[in-house]
Amino acid sequence: MTDVSIVVPFYNESESVNMFFETIFPLLKHAKLSFEILCINDGSRDNTLDLLKNFQKKRRQIKILDFSRNFGKDAAITAGLDFAAGKCVIPIDCDLQDPPELILDMIKKWRNGFDVVLAKRVDRSEDSVAKRATAKFFYKICNLLSDLELPENVGDFRLMDRKVIDTLKTFPERQRFLKGLFAFAGYKTTVVEYKRPERHRGKTKWSYWKLWNYAIDGITSFSMFPLKISTYFGLLVTLMAFVRGIWIFFRTIFLGIDMPGYASLMTTMLFLGGVQLMSLGIIGEYVGRIYIESKKRPIYIIKEII
Ligand code: UDP
Ligand code: MG
Repeated sequence: MTDVSIVVPFYNESESVNMFFETIFPLLKHAKLSFEILCINDGSRDNTLDLLKNFQKKRRQIKILDFSRNFGKDAAITAGLDFAAGKCVIPIDCDLQDPPELILDMIKKWRNGFDVVLAKRVDRSEDSVAKRATAKFFYKICNLLSDLELPENVGDFRLMDRKVIDTLKTFPERQRFLKGLFAFAGYKTTVVEYKRPERHRGKTKWSYWKLWNYAIDGITSFSMFPLKISTYFGLLVTLMAFVRGIWIFFRTIFLGIDMPGYASLMTTMLFLGGVQLMSLGIIGEYVGRIYIESKKRPIYIIKEII
């Protein structure tokens, strides 16, 4: 049986393929264990697939899963985990932002009896201030809203034992918020720390809009709290309206009628209208997700296994 399966998603990465393999092969040779590298071509539109095939001719450890189109990184990693044969599995980015040297430390800890070894970024100084702040805010909100403890500054780069992988395979959901699913699985966990370098080649595939949607996915897939907001807010508004109603009643009786108030009326109406629409939107997010789950479409489609 293979010791380690390395799972690598590729999406338009022709600039990174060479560098990735040239770094990882010497390293794994050095580790003196049997390994396979599962490369998932996530619908690349450049010549990534050809480059992968070229390398495969030289290295029999490379296996390629070619997707029928772009399904996103989480789907790609899911496919990798499904097909991995190793006693432990390590998903890693191909742009060398997840330093491959860490793999050796991870394996050492795994051999010492840990089931999950997380790679944790201790220094995010390479990121912009805005990105760091939003990331911090995201982890805060996630941990506040759900029972799940989402480890901060930890991505998909981690080692997982076969036990963990077999557990993950039993999660049937279509919408793969992997960070959350990994945390949900649990098991005996430890951490190795590293400083995340900048991307050497190519461009990041994350825009702020994508990150925003990713954050919503994260929150809605593990917390029902947003659904309760409207309940509590509704309660509060009802109570306030009740108190104000009583107050107006007595004021009218004792001080007579006085009818100004277009501005305050308009403000209240618009405010409550806005809150109602937002609540509908929140419900919509959840209903939409139920809709997608209920269709049970596949998470990814593999055109060819090479
Ligand atoms: N990736 C993918 N499908 C996508 C987007 C990205 O397989 O739709 C892969 C990409 O090729 C890379 C990894 O996911 O190996 C991380 O992507 P990126 O470097 O753009 O993300 P970042 O490092 O900025 O989080
Ligand atoms: Mg990257």
